[in-house]
Amino acid sequence: MAASMGGIVLGSAWRRWIVVVGGPGEALCWRGDDLVHWTLARPWVTAALPRPPVQDDCFAGAGPRLLAGEALALLQARVAPVVAAETLPLAAACGRLLAEPLIGERDVPAFDNVAVDGFALAHADLAPDRPTRLALVEGRAAAGHPYGSPLPSGRAVRVLTGGALPAGADTVVMQEDVEVAAGAVTVPPGLRPGVNRRRAGEDIRAGAIVLPVGRRLRPQEIGVAASLGRTSLAVWQPLNVALLSTGDELIEPGQPLRHGQAYDSNRSMLQGLLVGLGCQVTDLGICADRPAVVAERLASAARDHDVIISSGGVSQGDEDHVARSVERLGRLHFWQIAVKPGRPLAFGQLGGAIFVGLPGNPVAAALCFLLFARPMLIRLAGGAWPEPTRYPVPATFTLPKKPGRREYLRGRLVTADGHLAVERIAREGSGILTSLCEADGLIELAEDRQEVRPGQAVDFLPFSELGLAP
Ligand code: AMP
Ligand code: MG
Repeated sequence: MAASMGGIVLGSAWRRWIVVVGGPGEALCWRGDDLVHWTLARPWVTAALPRPPVQDDCFAGAGPRLLAGEALALLQARVAPVVAAETLPLAAACGRLLAEPLIGERDVPAFDNVAVDGFALAHADLAPDRPTRLALVEGRAAAGHPYGSPLPSGRAVRVLTGGALPAGADTVVMQEDVEVAAGAVTVPPGLRPGVNRRRAGEDIRAGAIVLPVGRRLRPQEIGVAASLGRTSLAVWQPLNVALLSTGDELIEPGQPLRHGQAYDSNRSMLQGLLVGLGCQVTDLGICADRPAVVAERLASAARDHDVIISSGGVSQGDEDHVARSVERLGRLHFWQIAVKPGRPLAFGQLGGAIFVGLPGNPVAAALCFLLFARPMLIRLAGGAWPEPTRYPVPATFTLPKKPGRREYLRGRLVTADGHLAVERIAREGSGILTSLCEADGLIELAEDRQEVRPGQAVDFLPFSELGLAP
């Protein structure tokens, strides 16, 4: 990291002594746990931070007005994983992101086996146009108990589901489809070769990459690892995220509400969204609109978090101290993204931590989180950049739209005349949080779109594509 007086961490190697320049000739420093204000006589030489998470000032150059796609491309290009790996037992690894590819160490299943209860035989022994009677050998193949020797030509053997298919047999006839009498089985014509046989390696081939680095380990991925005989997996440690709300009007739920106050809803909502991404969240509470309080809380959080997320206070109004504090302590860039609802949105760096300033209005905070912060956090946490699938669905409504910006409406799926369609949630102010409870997902209207008419297809992003369970 280069020496700078422009508002960047100068830093120390042991993170107990981090210096943040506030402006020409002055500095805010951490000494141990204390935030100290210094006046500098001359520029300092920078020492490297132990693990700078991203390139210096990585959010610079966003320009005055970004299209949503440009903003996402910038974020994608500029962030990389910042977390370390650890090895966890399978059960504890569920929900984490994989830090090493899962390689097929062996074939799964390990041997050809039987898919139904019935009789195993060689297809070549069957007559194509009439029933075939095959004498049964002594013994059987059951799950965990192989038959043990090759099947002689012209014979059949009793087999149960999961048993190893004896050598010499290639096909299994279901017990419901045959007649068994006097130590022989009569097989009707028309049996397809290889039917009811599970091939060795049909699930996983030895040597194959089964799961790539960055894959979220859901219960099914954990099951796959167990099917390979794994007891543990290398996963990324959770991203440490500090979360705060800002605003003198906000109070904690549970407190009596006075005139002019509102309960802090963003923090609980964002906490849920972050936990859903597997982040380790530190709750920094509500920050009053007082510059010193805001600066101290941000500076302290920057010491031991990968990311700091705030909501509110990032406009350039009189009481918007978050933005100004970040600007003073580190670097900040307002991204004027051509998206509705969305602005203001800010990205910056505070010491080794990335700062994301979300809008205060709850719906805008949620949407900016889902659309811009979420993919960035997933990438920082070691995951692959997510690309949500958009489903074209006919709209039920009419809407004139301003071209040049991307718009998101809250949408609910309905069936109209037996066909799928999407309607918009009528109450759509960016403070109306219940609208997100009524919605199934977001309707995305591209920049060049000028209107929506009933029956026209719109792009629908189900909440599940944005990581929200249905
Ligand atoms: P701000 O971005 O701080 O100007 O806030 C914009 C609007 O969002 C104001 O009406 C705030 O009261 C509201 N707001 C800001 N933060 C929160 C929060 N954490 N919970 C609920 N509403 C909020
Ligand atoms: Mg505010």
